[in-house]
Amino acid sequence: MAIKADALIVAPHTDDAEFGIAGTVCNWVHQGKVVVYCIVTNGDKGTSDTTLTPAELVELRQKEQWDAARKLGVADVAFLGYHDQELEDSADLRKDIVRQIRLYRPETVATTDPYRRYIWHRDHRICGQVVMDAVYPFARDHLAYPDLFAQGYLPHKVKEVLTWGTEDPNYWSDITESFESKIAALACHKSQVGRRDSHQLYLQLKSRATDMAKGQSFKLAEAFHRVEILM
Ligand SMILES: [Zn+2]
Repeated sequence: MAIKADALIVAPHTDDAEFGIAGTVCNWVHQGKVVVYCIVTNGDKGTSDTTLTPAELVELRQKEQWDAARKLGVADVAFLGYHDQELEDSADLRKDIVRQIRLYRPETVATTDPYRRYIWHRDHRICGQVVMDAVYPFARDHLAYPDLFAQGYLPHKVKEVLTWGTEDPNYWSDITESFESKIAALACHKSQVGRRDSHQLYLQLKSRATDMAKGQSFKLAEAFHRVEILM
């Protein structure tokens, strides 16, 4: 069985976790918490480079994700291997997420917010929704998946879910000290951010983090919608 984690980050694509929650992940690791990643799609459509085959892109993006994870001190990265832009709210995906939750037994699960309106990557919307469903009630109930139970994936109660990309933030994490680490982790995703002007991207992210910290006692934030699971 895998390591016990304090936080499981479920991201639809490689680099989503870095954009959404890497500053918070860096803080948690510094506090001694064990953080693991689960990347749902293989990212096989995310390039404008016409010389790369989908298989080469998948390999490259997995390596980049591991580089970013290592920079942040993330303990493990699992890749579920679904095709990019093809995520569906399916029984298979729900079960795969439940398996990850029962494997790592985290108190906190973080993912993309499923309730952002209008333009939002379909994979992000579906990933967030399926993670919510997997947390409650499917990961919790042993009768939900008797086959997983028989394989040793015991029921698990997650305590809280954080979603990034939310239009309805109610939880802010101070990333003033960890902002540079977030940028360094993001820079590992060369196939995704390598063609962008790195200084421009830095300024854009700093301005976003400053906006998110408005009304808080710190300068830079990542904002989330937090749900406590009381059942
Ligand atoms: Zn994404």
